[in-house]
Amino acid sequence: MKRVEKLFIQYLHDNGLKVTRERLTLLGELFSSTEHVDADSLFLKLRRREKGVSRATVYRTLDLLVSCGLARKSRLGREHYVYEAITPGKHHDHMVCTNCGRILEFYDPELEARQEEICRSHNFRASFHSLQIQGLCAECHDSD
Ligand SMILES: [Zn+2]
Ligand SMILES: [Zn+2]
Repeated sequence: MKRVEKLFIQYLHDNGLKVTRERLTLLGELFSSTEHVDADSLFLKLRRREKGVSRATVYRTLDLLVSCGLARKSRLGREHYVYEAITPGKHHDHMVCTNCGRILEFYDPELEARQEEICRSHNFRASFHSLQIQGLCAECHDSD
């Protein structure tokens, strides 16, 4: 069994929730790509494999994945929230193109360290951060 699956099952057990095939299939679906997808697209994808799955189940399971730290929910300049898989111990931030919607991921250890220092200097205990830079990607600003 995959590590993330173990973590999720443990989380469900700890919270007295049922481990269902639908929940595990959704987890697998989310981790099968590095995309940022909205709940409805995930619902449509999942329905191809699990005929009886309801939209409510998908929303509820996504919330559970977010609370157990295996998924991240963000706006990323969209009308709807998008979800992405989180590999424990790995973090990244986003640049969002406001013209074409492209999402670039980046990770900068110096920036991360600096943010930790800033929190420390404010005696603030960070549990999570999400940095989002909006602007134009290379293809979109080339044309002007
Ligand atoms: Zn663009
Ligand atoms: Zn991302």
